[in-house]
Amino acid sequence: MSSSEQLFARARQLIPGGVNSPVRAFRSVGGAPFFVKAAHGAMLTTADDRELIDFVGTWGPAIHGHNHPVIRAAIAAALDRGTSFGTPNPLEVEMAELIVRFVPSIQKVRMCNSGTEATMSAIRLARGFTRRDKIIKFSGCYHGHSDSLLIKAGSGALTHGHPDSAGVPASFAAETVVLPFNDRAALDAAFAANPGQIAGVIIEAYCGNVGFIMPDAGYLAYLRDITAQHGAVLIFDEVMTGFRIAKGGVQERESITPDLTCLGKIIGGGLPVGAFGGRADIMDQLAPLGPVYQAGTLSGNPLAMAAGIAALRLLESENPYARLDTLGRRLRDAVLAACKAKGLPAQVPQCGSMFSIFFTATPVRDYATALTGDAQLFARFFHACLERGVYLAPSAYEAGFLSTAHDGVAIERACDILTNAIARL
Ligand SMILES: *Cc1c(COP(=O)(O)O)cnc(C)c1O
Repeated sequence: MSSSEQLFARARQLIPGGVNSPVRAFRSVGGAPFFVKAAHGAMLTTADDRELIDFVGTWGPAIHGHNHPVIRAAIAAALDRGTSFGTPNPLEVEMAELIVRFVPSIQKVRMCNSGTEATMSAIRLARGFTRRDKIIKFSGCYHGHSDSLLIKAGSGALTHGHPDSAGVPASFAAETVVLPFNDRAALDAAFAANPGQIAGVIIEAYCGNVGFIMPDAGYLAYLRDITAQHGAVLIFDEVMTGFRIAKGGVQERESITPDLTCLGKIIGGGLPVGAFGGRADIMDQLAPLGPVYQAGTLSGNPLAMAAGIAALRLLESENPYARLDTLGRRLRDAVLAACKAKGLPAQVPQCGSMFSIFFTATPVRDYATALTGDAQLFARFFHACLERGVYLAPSAYEAGFLSTAHDGVAIERACDILTNAIARL
């Protein structure tokens, strides 16, 4: 048995499914997950000493690659001063200043410990601010695992959602309206059907959790207008896209100003962090100033702040976005060319350092069209890449990520491997 197999056998006895987050279990591609004992730059080193070119990037945070020396030094320096104080600390202020400078719509910000906490708190804040209960989300968008947001679509666009998980009360799900992404008429209908009741709309402005999907031209502006018109809080969940699509996220690239923004992943520099922020008048409804309660024993933790500050400062000094887009396009073009040579229909949406590969002839613009991708073919492709030394996300419905550590050499090698894997499908 390999080391990974031995570890997985031990893990499965004590940890449900052997993993601490379900997608790591490889259920949608089959086979058993490998364990990683170290990661540097663009490479993972498995427990069995295989070196893999990594396009998962710890699911989004690792925009600078793994174990970046500057981030590691910042954590080490913070560690010398102590790991948690339970009082305000200077790094929290520095972090808030950076976020407000980077993210156009954010006037005030609150730190928390994960993306899930950020979205859950933003939803509560939208409800407290508007004194309304219902929220709109979009099918295929993932916003962490809190009750209000783990809801799937009902049978029609106007039906209220059903729990997407056992343990979520149907009465909670009834407060969440689920609509198709990229569908203006569905938005019109939902606001018309729930007059004065929609507290907020939460969206992954560029979807990254059903594969990578971009909005149609004008869709986000339409969403901004209709929410403003109805007094509903517009929440951009930029946990994945924040600091990745641009320094200021999708909102900077698209020039849209949401009311609230959720952040996570990159903002922790590899440590567990989330944040939410936005309009000062809304944020001031939070405790201790206002009636909306939100808290966290480890929120603003000095190690996590130090790592995140280092990661954000690197983005500012390196401004890597044009370079990342060039590398992303190179990868996309290689995959498209290989699919064409093989006669395989494929869609490869890509923007900057985000991409995904759908094996379908149908342009992907929402959840339903994402599902037209051939997941079984993807599973074979995934394993063919893994055998040859490239680790893609272990699901047909996840985005891939590049980092600044994916230099030209790594990308060329990856392109060869992907091309070869596709040719042998
Ligand atoms: C990852 C993610 C979350 C949840 O963040 P966690 O840190 O895993 O809780 C929320 N929203 C989006 C868009 C994400 O990609």
